[in-house]
Amino acid sequence: MIALSLAEIAEIVGGQSHDIPDPATPVTGPVVIDSRAVEPGSLFAAFRGDRVDGHDYAEQAVAAGAAAVLATRPLGVPAIVVDDVQSALGRLARFVVERLGTKVVALTGSAGKTSTKDLIAQVLQRKGPTVWTPGSLNNEIGLPLTALRATEETEHLVLEMGARGIGHIRYLTELTPPRIGLVLNVGTAHIGEFGGREQIAQAKGEMVESLPPAGEDGGVAVLNADDPLVRAMASRTKARVLLFGEADDAAVRAENVRLTELGQPTFTLHTPTGCSDVTMRLYGEHHVSNALAAAAVAHELDMSASEIALALSEADTLSRWRMEVTERPDGVTVVNDAYNANPESMRAALRALAAMGKGRRTWAVLGQMAELGDEALVEHDAVGRLAVRLNVGKLVAVGGREASWLQLGAYNEGSWGEESVHVSDAQAAVDLLRRELRPGDVVLVKASRSVGLERIAQALLEGP
Ligand code: ATP
Ligand code: MG
Repeated sequence: MIALSLAEIAEIVGGQSHDIPDPATPVTGPVVIDSRAVEPGSLFAAFRGDRVDGHDYAEQAVAAGAAAVLATRPLGVPAIVVDDVQSALGRLARFVVERLGTKVVALTGSAGKTSTKDLIAQVLQRKGPTVWTPGSLNNEIGLPLTALRATEETEHLVLEMGARGIGHIRYLTELTPPRIGLVLNVGTAHIGEFGGREQIAQAKGEMVESLPPAGEDGGVAVLNADDPLVRAMASRTKARVLLFGEADDAAVRAENVRLTELGQPTFTLHTPTGCSDVTMRLYGEHHVSNALAAAAVAHELDMSASEIALALSEADTLSRWRMEVTERPDGVTVVNDAYNANPESMRAALRALAAMGKGRRTWAVLGQMAELGDEALVEHDAVGRLAVRLNVGKLVAVGGREASWLQLGAYNEGSWGEESVHVSDAQAAVDLLRRELRPGDVVLVKASRSVGLERIAQALLEGP
């Protein structure tokens, strides 16, 4: 955070100062919403959640060194009082980003936001100091908190933006107006809440509508040439369009794409400045698209093809439980992708499993993909079928109704009997796997966040 006095902050957010002995006291950051994360000089923003009310922790925050609290009422400790803490935080973030003039790169999409954001961050970090969204903090609270971590040194701010409906991305882009706006894909994630793919495209496209017009230092819309709904967003922006993908007309392109024996993508990266080979540390073919997206952004920020290729080849996953590959001493490989799941990412993960498992026994331990609305049955059925077509050795479907659809899909596709099992919960899956895993087996664990299947991966890693 840049140093601002409490008086300045009060003015920026349009708040009233209460119990502040010295309005010139600087806030040196960070701005936090969890009193346990307070550091000396912090600003503590008091949010009212479903279970806890930040206002109850104001005293604790000040005792821990917070310069003041941002709150909706006086609390007997130094406070800036506003009507709405969320919009105050947003105004402060916007002020700081504008004052710093940091280049904002924003990205959205149905799948791969966090993976791509982590790639972009690791590539841009080589060029200059970069601040990025930690984990998946991509909403109206996480976004300003991230932006407020920028300092005078920060050259790039890389922000993941999530949308659960129309208007969400617009709101976020107004807080931290991007110069480079990236849309990865339009899939079926959260389709239940949106109502359909067209609506999802409508919502994600707000990203490119927000961009400044083309011109020197003007806006750039970075779009996935391989996704028709994303490509079509070119007509919704005044910014210059830069396409990435495997399509021939993509300015940033991959050729000779294949997976290594371990399931890591390797390809030749082409950018307008040249070409260079990439072999990724990350697993799964879906990362090719993510890497090209990152390369397109880096190209716009004046990095050469060879610099970008090197950075992509050395990039690691920064966020937990996304295709985390661990080999046990007994040679069993556990692929923990339990962070989240939707139909696109399920397919990508199954393909990665198939590539990694060549010549080995493979297990797909899968659970529900949440929020699919009316498409849930068809999509679970399709994933079960795909497991058969990819020659996965065994499917363990974990959970309730959706798990039974996974199993049925496999059964119907390949007359699978013993090869697919349906168990009711994570513990049952662990018991089964402990009995049946043999050295050299590869196990993929994946489901939506709410299912919590990382417990299975963790239990397997504790030992046979
Ligand atoms: P969230 O909406 O939960 O924040 P996200 O868009 O940030 O999700 P990630 O966390 O990067 O996405 O990845 C979620 C899942 O999607 C992971 O299982 C990952 O393996 C898979 N995935 C990553 N990139 C892609 C892609 N380009 N296409 C399909 N699946 C992908
Ligand atoms: Mg995410």
